[in-house]
Amino acid sequence: MEKILSDQRCIVCNSNELKIIYNTYDRHYGNVNKLFNVTECNSCKLLALSPMITSDELHSMYDDDTYYAYQPFEDGTQKITLLQRIGRSVLKIKAMDPDFDCVNKHILDIGCGSGRELFFYKKRGAMVTGVEISKSGTDFGNKYGLNIFNGTLKEANLEGDKFDYIRSNHSFEHITNPVETVEEIYRITKPGGRVFVGVPNTRSLPYRIFGKYWYYLGVPFHPVNYNPENLIKLFEAKGFKKEKVNYNGNLHGVLGSLQIYLNRNNKKSSSEGLLVNNILLKVVSHQVAKIFNLLKLGDCMEVTFIK
Ligand SMILES: [Zn+2]
Repeated sequence: MEKILSDQRCIVCNSNELKIIYNTYDRHYGNVNKLFNVTECNSCKLLALSPMITSDELHSMYDDDTYYAYQPFEDGTQKITLLQRIGRSVLKIKAMDPDFDCVNKHILDIGCGSGRELFFYKKRGAMVTGVEISKSGTDFGNKYGLNIFNGTLKEANLEGDKFDYIRSNHSFEHITNPVETVEEIYRITKPGGRVFVGVPNTRSLPYRIFGKYWYYLGVPFHPVNYNPENLIKLFEAKGFKKEKVNYNGNLHGVLGSLQIYLNRNNKKSSSEGLLVNNILLKVVSHQVAKIFNLLKLGDCMEVTFIK
């Protein structure tokens, strides 16, 4: 499928050469009846839904009761078995936030879910703030005093030049208005402060292999998907300076994509099937993903910026 759109422009580079490369459905949660167009910019290769989904429509598609990021997190007091501990360390998926002394630092987590990361920053002495569109995620985190605002970043209307560290881990690709969001992030970052953005990477090997079956394409929950260059361009255009790019893909890009490919005719969700529930394949895929990361071809990238 290749149809050039002339009346739309790329939100990052303003090119009007956008072509529809996929017309596809949600392969994760089983909303198979609604089709969405995905466009690719000829110039910067940004992927975006066309027409762009509204944030209200997008939010209405999340199930607060089951979406992973909105679930209660373990605060360290829960007991887990040795076998669980081993399994978790072998299949560990963890954002590689930069390490710094966070005592009395102002830290903001955008799309913080139920606030797990904020909980641990607070424990280390930081002054934390969260922004989260899920009511149940917000309510859970606020039971721990995590100061989470229920709504969008813009609605939160936070103080300017305030935050030493702002993170957005696997939330930025869910945002339908990234340009305005980056402007707002810049406004509230303290001069010299740091921003961490973890998103899927369309320069990854699994995306190149699987295309519309790629696990992280995430239609329509990921209305925009980035590669390192267009993400950096977006942030630099608003005044940030790139500090570092890190690749942090995991088993899902490999195994999840394969399962989605196998499920393409039966339209089952990405968590259903023999592959994704096979522990040995999970371990192998996770190790393969680490090799892709070393080659800078991993499914997820983490870029840090300085204001
Ligand atoms: Zn572009």
